Amino acid sequence: MDKSYKVQVKDLHKSYGNNEVLKGIDLNVKPSEVVCMIGPSGSGKSTFLRCINKLEEPNSGHVYVDGYDIADPRVDINKVRQNIGMVFQHFNLFPNMNVLQNIMLAPVELGKMSRDEAKKAAIHYLKLVGLEDKAGANPMKLSGGQQQRVAIARALAMKPDVMLFDEPTSALDPEMVGDVLEVMKQLAQEGMTMIVVTHEMGFAKQVADRVVFFHDGDIREQGTPDQIFEHPQHPDTQNFLRKVL
Ligand code: ADP
Ligand code: MG
Repeated sequence: MDKSYKVQVKDLHKSYGNNEVLKGIDLNVKPSEVVCMIGPSGSGKSTFLRCINKLEEPNSGHVYVDGYDIADPRVDINKVRQNIGMVFQHFNLFPNMNVLQNIMLAPVELGKMSRDEAKKAAIHYLKLVGLEDKAGANPMKLSGGQQQRVAIARALAMKPDVMLFDEPTSALDPEMVGDVLEVMKQLAQEGMTMIVVTHEMGFAKQVADRVVFFHDGDIREQGTPDQIFEHPQHPDTQNFLRKVL
């Protein structure tokens, strides 16, 4: 384990039955680094992200977050999870609460903040995602893009060290995608450590410090956006990019 990394993954293996989905993944993510993960559907990207906050139990290998081995039974996984923000394709906001209440819920319920602090934080992050005027709205009345920005604000309200995004714009109408990517870009510029699974190659090119190409449960190739998009070395990467670019 190396404390200078936010996230360190060593030889991670995960199978579902006899379907080996992750075949020995190694990945180190430095503070403030933005890593974009691209690759075909079914290559294991979501499973990999879910292993990082232990929503999935790996078969072998290690995941360290802030230096804590999340497989160690002495490590309180709920404490570690509080420092990992996760944003999914489907935002899953609570329909029976307004936007502000959605964002305040976790910090208050988990005892991280008083109600006053949580409210301040919620308003701060709503401003950040450009939705301060929607604090009192029912989330179901918002557009998909707005709901996703609320979901991002909700994750940020826990003041996480690392943000994981799993195709946050894939379920959105095309005209909503830009606003969500803009918020993510701003977060990246503010120094948030981010691992982003995305099909938005333009975003990856522009924002990623490193692009990681997943293929068939392995990292086939990784490098700077220029290395991966302009000079891919592996035939699998070349093939994939031919299809998506
Ligand atoms: P990606 O996110 O790259 O599309 P996934 O991680 O979702 O890939 O899936 C990788 C493989 O793991 C696929 O073959 C998928 O069918 C399988 N898989 C994912 N989740 C489960 C699960 N809960 N049970 C069984 N198989 C799963
Ligand atoms: Mg996926």
